[in-house]
Amino acid sequence: MSTAGETTAPPVNDRLLEVKRLSKQFPLTSGLLEQLQFERGRLVRREDSVNAINDAELSVRRGEALCVVGESGCGKSTLARVVMGLLPPTSGSIYFAGTRIDNLSADELLPFRRRMQMIFQNPYASLNPRMTVKQALEEPARFHHPSLSRTAIADKINEVMRSVGVDPGWNERYPHEFSGGQRQRISIARALMTDPEFIVADEPISALDVSIQAQVLNLLMEAQQQRSLTYLFITHDLSVVEHFGSRVAVMYLGAICELAETRTLFRQPRHPYTRALLSAIPKLDRSRPDRSRLLGEVPTPIHLPGGCFFHPRCVHANDRCREERPKLLTTAEGTQVACHGVQEGRLG
Ligand code: SF4
Repeated sequence: MSTAGETTAPPVNDRLLEVKRLSKQFPLTSGLLEQLQFERGRLVRREDSVNAINDAELSVRRGEALCVVGESGCGKSTLARVVMGLLPPTSGSIYFAGTRIDNLSADELLPFRRRMQMIFQNPYASLNPRMTVKQALEEPARFHHPSLSRTAIADKINEVMRSVGVDPGWNERYPHEFSGGQRQRISIARALMTDPEFIVADEPISALDVSIQAQVLNLLMEAQQQRSLTYLFITHDLSVVEHFGSRVAVMYLGAICELAETRTLFRQPRHPYTRALLSAIPKLDRSRPDRSRLLGEVPTPIHLPGGCFFHPRCVHANDRCREERPKLLTTAEGTQVACHGVQEGRLG
C-alpha cells in the first residue's frame, strides 16, 4: 500500500486514474458532549461516522467510460467528489496519469484540475444564474489558459457551443432562458472549455426529462470520440450503463463488489448483489439471469456488517462470509469480484 509521502506510482500506461484502498468517513457527532455515552455503568466516548467509501479499488483506462453503478446511498457520488478533490479522502490514495494527487496542495493540483473536469447531476445548480453563457464558458478558459487571447477564447466558445448543439448566437443569454437539456449541454460545454482528458459525470442525465436523456447521453459519447475523453460515469440506471459503459464497477456500501467489461457483466454477473440488481430490471430478453433473491434491507453505513458487507442479505452466506471480508480478485474471465462464494467455486 502507498505511504503518505509517496507521489508517484509505477507507470501503467493504459490507466489514467487509479483509486487504491480509498475510504471516506463523515463524522456524525461534532461536540465532545455528543460523543459521551453511558455503557455498562461507565462513561465512554463514541465517535460515530458514516462510512461512505470503504477501501474502494478501481482503475479507469484511457479512452474508456467506466460506469459506477449502485443503489442510492452506496457512496458512488462521494467517490466522484473525492476523485475530483472536492472532498479529502480519509485514507487511501488516488493516482492520475501515474502521479499521486490526493495529497497535493491546491497549487500543485492546479495542472490536474485543467485535465480533470466534472459534470454534475443538476444543471440548474451547476451554472451561476448571474453569468451569461459566454461568461460561464470564458471563466474556466481564462483561469486555466491565461495566455489565450480574447479572440482565441471567443473562437473556442463558438466551437464548443456548436459541438454541444447550442447556437453560439445565444451566448449572451442567462441559464434561466434555457431548458433543462440545454442547460446540461452548456454545463458539458463549460467542462470542455479546458480541453480535459478525463471527465467525472455524476448522474448527468437523471435530472432531465426522459425524452432528453438519450440526446445528452449521445452528446457525451460523441464528445468522447471526438476529443479522446475518458469518463468515470456515476449512475444508478443499469440501462444507461449497458448503453454507455465500456466497463462497469458495482458498488455496495462504499466498496466495489464487482468490476467487469459491460457485456460480460450483463451476460455473466458473478457477485450475488450484481445478479440481484440485474434481475430487478424488467426484461423481455430471456438470455439474462433469472430473478435473484435478496434478504432484508441495505444496512446502515454507520454500523457496517462484519465480514462481507453483503452477508446479511445474501442467501449464499456461510460462516467465512460473516467473519472475513472478501478481497477483490480477478477471475479467469477477467472479471474482478469480491465474493468468497465465487472464489471457492460455490457460485457459478
Ligand atoms: Fe454472499 Fe459470501 Fe459472496 Fe458475500 S462473500 S456475496 S455473503 S457468498
